[in-house]
Amino acid sequence: MTMRRTFSGLSGNPHADGWNPLTLALLAGVWIAALPNWPLWQALLALPETHTARGGLFVAGFGVMVAALTALLLTLLAWRATIKPAIALLLLAAAFGAHFMGSYGVVIDTTMMTNVLQTDPREVRDLLSLRMLGTVLLLAGLPLLALWRVPVRGLGFWRQAGRNLLGLVAFALVLAALLFALFADLSATMRNHRTMRYLINPVNSLYALVDLGFASGRVPSGPPLAIGADAHILPRPAGTKPTLLVLVVGETARADHFALDGYARPTNPALAALGVASFRNVMSCGTNTATSLPCMFSALGKKGFESRARDQQNLLDLVQRAGMAVLWVDNQAGCKGLCERVPNAYAHDPVAGVAALPAALCDGEDCLDEALLHGLDARLAALPAAARARGVLIVLHQMGSHGPAYFKRSPPDRKPFLPECTSNALQQCDHQALVNAYDNSIAYTDHVLGQTIQWLQQQASRYDPALLYLSDHGESLGENNLYLHGLPYAVAPVEQKHVPMVLWLAAPAAAQSACIAGLRDAALTHDNLFHSVLGLLGIRAAEYRPTLDAFAACRAP
Ligand SMILES: [Zn+2]
Repeated sequence: MTMRRTFSGLSGNPHADGWNPLTLALLAGVWIAALPNWPLWQALLALPETHTARGGLFVAGFGVMVAALTALLLTLLAWRATIKPAIALLLLAAAFGAHFMGSYGVVIDTTMMTNVLQTDPREVRDLLSLRMLGTVLLLAGLPLLALWRVPVRGLGFWRQAGRNLLGLVAFALVLAALLFALFADLSATMRNHRTMRYLINPVNSLYALVDLGFASGRVPSGPPLAIGADAHILPRPAGTKPTLLVLVVGETARADHFALDGYARPTNPALAALGVASFRNVMSCGTNTATSLPCMFSALGKKGFESRARDQQNLLDLVQRAGMAVLWVDNQAGCKGLCERVPNAYAHDPVAGVAALPAALCDGEDCLDEALLHGLDARLAALPAAARARGVLIVLHQMGSHGPAYFKRSPPDRKPFLPECTSNALQQCDHQALVNAYDNSIAYTDHVLGQTIQWLQQQASRYDPALLYLSDHGESLGENNLYLHGLPYAVAPVEQKHVPMVLWLAAPAAAQSACIAGLRDAALTHDNLFHSVLGLLGIRAAEYRPTLDAFAACRAP
């Protein structure tokens, strides 16, 4: 009796009725495989090869595999105290995953998870919708309600461990048997439709989190390696002024929606009037901000950046080290660590001696991109004078065409294309209205770039001004039922990778102008940014590679 009391004291009442945790793991596995995985089943059933009896069997078998795999994972935590939290977490992850995959055609992989973890609350708010609430309540709320009411039986740790081991073996056997039986169809489907594996929900989210954990272990933490030990500024010809380069980092702009690059709608009236050079064959490093931004500013290029053994300092560090003034102004979710060691500010930060931002530019949460120019004179004047006399690099990080709320990216009086979609449930909008909202954001970027060039022209008495604009990645606007961006690079459609790039110089010589215009179709990538900026600023360092400097051939010798 004493023994028994001790046992029940340790491990719960062995006589209580209730469900075994293992049973709950199995039921949760079946629910998750059947319902929150609807984007996977929808995608699979859309494939012609599943429209046969054999294909139908394959999809059914695959469904059992997903259920067994999910149940197997839950079995690792199938004890009385842990099973309910484990199922709750998995249900919520699966429901949110189902909403985003089903609504936007995105898939969940490591880079998407990086994005999710780095997203700021403003971006999250844009993604919230009634539809999301409905999906989560239906797919997670309903089973959670049932789960809440179910009593769970406590068998004691070791007895439960024994059962769980049996459960693990049983689920693994089911998986192995089906893998063997379906191998030919499974391997062909996964090879031909590589995004399919990222749709297996919520295994995709778990896998991405684990992969991220390993990834952060792959690149050692600690301060990044210094670069630019020998960085120096080339001597300026007598009588010339220091360079003032504004680098505008665009957001989610597609090259094929720039009129300058051949788009049929007038999305670039301001830039066209200013006689800028546009480069229409530029590819991005990543398909999302978190990947592209650090890669763009790295000396390593896409390949080198992705396989780096250590984090390195970036373009901003090198320019500052060479002796020039550097400033990063952000109107988005931040500089992802790039601007940590140089002067930086958010566009909505107050500037000493300058009136507050007008309400028309900032609604208290989001700011329109013209906010980047507010008080920029004062921000520039506050940089060290000695460094400014050698040259200045200002980076303006835009909100650009950040989705899905494109309609919020242009002010009411700057909407040439109407009617526009005012929902963030993009797939429910009329396609033309969606494109209109997106094109309005591009036209507004055109306006902001035009205003920036006007601001630069006002600095021409003290500086030799220039502007370089380059977007971080593109966007899907419903092509093949895909929306937003962030698909794995290898399988992402070109719309997510083909980005606009624009250069404006204050007073180029005729020969230089013609030379730069001749680069219109040159094959360029984000790899060119680091070296081209150093070229424009007249900075040299061991890291500078003239072959990657897009404009090197167009400079006067
Ligand atoms: Zn981005």
